[in-house]
Amino acid sequence: MPKSRLPSNILLTCALVFGSVAALSQSVGPQPLPMPAQIAAPKDTPYPAAIRLNVDATDIERHIFKIRETIPVRSGEPVVLLYPQWLPGNHSPSGRVDKIAGLVIYANGARVDWVRDPVDVFAFHVSVPATATSLDVNFQFVSPIDTSEGRVVMTPDMLNLQWNAVTLYPAGHFARQIMMEPSVRLPDGWQFATALETASSRDSLTTFKPVSLETLADSPIFAGRYFKRLDLDPGGVVPVHLNVVADRAELLEVKPDQLEVHRALVRQAYKLYGSHHYDHYDILLALTDRMGGIGLEHHQSSENGTVPTYFTEWEKNADARDLLPHEYTHSWNGKFRRPADLWTPNFNVPMRDSLLWVYEGQTQYWGFVLAARAGLLSKRQTLDAIASTAAAYDHRVGREWRDLQDTTNDPIAAMRRPLSWRSWERSEDYYSEGQLMWLDVDTLVREKSGDRKSLDDFARLFFGVGDGSFVPSTYVFEDVVKTLNTVQPYDWATFLRARLDGHGPGAPLDGIARGGYKLVYTETPSDYFKGSEARRRVTDLSYSLGMVVAAEGRLIEVLWDGPAYKSGLTVGTQIMAVNGIAFDADQLKRAIKDAKQTGATIELLVKAGNRFRTVPIDYREGLRYPSLERDASGPARLDQILTSRN
Ligand SMILES: [Zn+2]
Repeated sequence: MPKSRLPSNILLTCALVFGSVAALSQSVGPQPLPMPAQIAAPKDTPYPAAIRLNVDATDIERHIFKIRETIPVRSGEPVVLLYPQWLPGNHSPSGRVDKIAGLVIYANGARVDWVRDPVDVFAFHVSVPATATSLDVNFQFVSPIDTSEGRVVMTPDMLNLQWNAVTLYPAGHFARQIMMEPSVRLPDGWQFATALETASSRDSLTTFKPVSLETLADSPIFAGRYFKRLDLDPGGVVPVHLNVVADRAELLEVKPDQLEVHRALVRQAYKLYGSHHYDHYDILLALTDRMGGIGLEHHQSSENGTVPTYFTEWEKNADARDLLPHEYTHSWNGKFRRPADLWTPNFNVPMRDSLLWVYEGQTQYWGFVLAARAGLLSKRQTLDAIASTAAAYDHRVGREWRDLQDTTNDPIAAMRRPLSWRSWERSEDYYSEGQLMWLDVDTLVREKSGDRKSLDDFARLFFGVGDGSFVPSTYVFEDVVKTLNTVQPYDWATFLRARLDGHGPGAPLDGIARGGYKLVYTETPSDYFKGSEARRRVTDLSYSLGMVVAAEGRLIEVLWDGPAYKSGLTVGTQIMAVNGIAFDADQLKRAIKDAKQTGATIELLVKAGNRFRTVPIDYREGLRYPSLERDASGPARLDQILTSRN
């Protein structure tokens, strides 16, 4: 936005006012102490020698990773060791330095002292004896045992090793300039997958080929007792594999048509981007309800954690099937092409998230489009998914105060802590509202070009360049605009800024209209919507009463300004009875239907803390569920977008 210019006489007056305040000087009260010396900024110079890193990941019962590092140092020169704080793909300072314990450092067999930096608690100052040429660094990563501590990464049957969690590294160098020699000991008999290449393997100890710290942190491991590896691109230019670990052996049953749609995902991505940015790619997939869920992108792999019955109850899990296409797309959008302000030289330089509406928003868009083109989702399921997204964002009134651009600060500001008023506070809305915005762009390119061009052309030009390279290529806002203009000349800067900086009302739904559909509400939910409700174990009444009800009538979401909100209901309140009859979800839905027919008020008996009260809800529009309905007045561009490429 343009900066406002003040008339020069006002500036002069301000200067006089501030000048006279300064003249009073010396206020009463403390003055700040100086900050400690800055930690050395990373330079693009090689660290003199490789760091040996060994991780013992066998203590699965106690969830403890034991780490031993040998870090070459210059004799007598103090060194600062950093624990990774700013994690790629998290877009936030989410490194778990609080989970580091038992840090003891030796040089020449004698213990040396370390002191944590009082300002940057991710930095450890270590004194190096005059005769020492390396440090032996020992510590543990005491990973969460219970979800209340964070994401569980070890269970008796599987584990997820993220190298950034088990590495201390020297300050002063770019991560790509620090060479690492990693090895891991896994529980006996377990198999594993990673984008790292094995150098040697003996018993349960695997040593990997040396890689830079940048690549190491980008190459996590999934390992497990029950494991299956599937070839997703037989005879392809480079290998692509689906590596599955599961809570139980029978969950690894993959039917031929299920394998086929995952293979089609690789083919459709290549047709879209016309390139790949890896030598080999490994999708890591955990089917579990014991290890914490995840979707985290890397250049040559991705971490995906989803429902145990992903394959075995295929029909029930449609809403889990955009995960793999999303994370796979990130190899192009996010890892290879990266916002210039998000790329950082090491893992302790702050990230800026201003372009996440491209990084995550367009990935969310392609995630669903590729899922449809590959057959992971049917056209109907994809339309129903888009309807759900459109309705959700159309009902979130938070945009009145907070624009979409500002939500890109959310990973840093909120770090995914639970929210009471999600629809008002807003969250990481650049994902799914970004998806709607890119549908808007795609259909506009199609309309303006007489359906000769599309966002596919943008994807190929923007993400498809540099085939075979996985050195990140950074971009700024103007580069996005320029490439859009190459595809189809238009005032894209104004178009994008209006949607990023605007305050509504409502979600950007022009893409649905230009796609040949309209968002409508029906009395019965789509199968996709029902599946999503079942998997989340909720009754989703967002578009009728404006609330989502979980087990035993507990409210887990109340939409700001909706009927439930206006009746004074909040998250955490429990519905005990509906119109005088004990609560169950069907009884509540019947009451909503009856109110429409009879005009009666819905009366809830609710419990909040130890207080009971009766709450009347003034709502008579019946059950409402989102759906996309074909509008035959224009071409069905959405159908074209979702059709697989030959
Ligand atoms: Zn993502």
